Amino acid sequence: MLKFHNTLSGKTEDFQPLNDNGNDVRLYICGPTVWSFAHIGNFRTFIFGDVLRRYIKYKGYNLTHVMNLTDVDDRIINEARKAGKTIDEFVQPFIEAFWQDVDALGIERPEIAPRATEHIAEMIDIIARLLENDHAYESEGSIYYRISAFEDYGKLSKINFKGNVSGASGRVDTDKYDKENAQDFALWKFVDEDEPTGWDAPFGRGRPGWHIECSAMAMKYLGESFDIHAGGIDLKFPHHENEIAQSEGATEKMFAKYWLHSEHLKVEGETMSKSLGNYFTFRDLIEKGYSATAIRYLLLSVPYHKQLNFTFETLNGAENTIERLSDFRTRLREANLSAGANSVLQGKTRKYLSDFEEAMDDNLNTSVALAALHNLVREVNSALANETILTGDREFILEAVEKIDSVLGIFSEKQKEMLDAEIEQLIEERQEARRSRNFARSDEIRDSLAAQGIVLEDTKDGVRWKRK
Ligand code: AMP
Ligand code: ZN
Repeated sequence: MLKFHNTLSGKTEDFQPLNDNGNDVRLYICGPTVWSFAHIGNFRTFIFGDVLRRYIKYKGYNLTHVMNLTDVDDRIINEARKAGKTIDEFVQPFIEAFWQDVDALGIERPEIAPRATEHIAEMIDIIARLLENDHAYESEGSIYYRISAFEDYGKLSKINFKGNVSGASGRVDTDKYDKENAQDFALWKFVDEDEPTGWDAPFGRGRPGWHIECSAMAMKYLGESFDIHAGGIDLKFPHHENEIAQSEGATEKMFAKYWLHSEHLKVEGETMSKSLGNYFTFRDLIEKGYSATAIRYLLLSVPYHKQLNFTFETLNGAENTIERLSDFRTRLREANLSAGANSVLQGKTRKYLSDFEEAMDDNLNTSVALAALHNLVREVNSALANETILTGDREFILEAVEKIDSVLGIFSEKQKEMLDAEIEQLIEERQEARRSRNFARSDEIRDSLAAQGIVLEDTKDGVRWKRK
């Protein structure tokens, strides 16, 4: 039985989807703010989201996963202005870079990836509802959410705001505050007519606060109530607390049933920051020569609800591990085996696969899940060495490995380098094709060699080739 630690209840609970048929699962994960390249801390959270996504599918559910792109906030507006670009021109390259990184890290793309700026109408609609039912008010250039109107404010973060919250009717001190309560947050900020980043709304031209975008996009694509909402731990308060207040304040229905939060990544025990020089984007690590699969392995090797301490020592270790895993699979695919089947080995394989599932069912315990995989690899390696693995076992074990990897995604397919002799044989075949005027075939050979980084040069002394 799949279990999650639900931040909302503070307990580990059996996962029961909301949907009547029990098979559809709707998941929302807060996405990146696309103002620069995503860093490895962001990717820790997105890889957690990917493992969550893949395991939900592994369990046979029909998944709809939404992840927003935050493409408007104060930072983006300022940076775009400094660069002399529109918001769209400024964010576009970072959106493209984000998807490239996602693909390189083997993170499956969500079914729906909406942009905040394309959902302003939906945000305006929620704000209008909140104004209408007195959960929001206008003051000093903004529309604020009135937290005193939402009885359950604090239920996710378990912060008690009762002492801080003034009565629904009472203002604290209008001379000092432009809001009724210090915790009230902006839903909409009014802007001048000549400000380019602004949208017309019935309550006045402006732009949205940050929190409202996720309420609007989650409810648009997943309905007013859905199954799982996830994100990094720093979003628990205020972002997720405010999402709940806005959504439930407007609909009077439960917003999300399960709330999952991933702990932060630190680097060499410290919080990542540019000033400490320990801030790394995914691209920084690729430039240093590390592989995407090793980075992925490291980022998922610690259960998501535990802090992950990133070090270069562990990253080097991850490089060795993924190489060993990949070599193992190649050996298993290519070994010369005797006929027959070893039922003991198959029984053990089944057991390791069920250990893997048990670990993943337990709130996605990836470190125990990896241990199950390593146990399987060790067992099969010794069977290969002792020649106790037989032809009938190969497919069975490979299938178990593929099942595990459909969730973890840590086996890389190594491109086998072509041997000189293989290249020369293909060149000879191409010459033959040309002599017989089969130019289609000769071009095909040339292209397929080029795809593997081998360039041909036709000289008067014959064909020369080199690796790019
Ligand atoms: P942002 O692009 O800042 O909106 O963040 C995108 C996601 O990355 C959010 O879910 C954050 O909680 C998460 N995140 C940011 N920093 C870290 C970190 N150091 N470790 C893990 N997750 C992080
Ligand atoms: Zn969000």
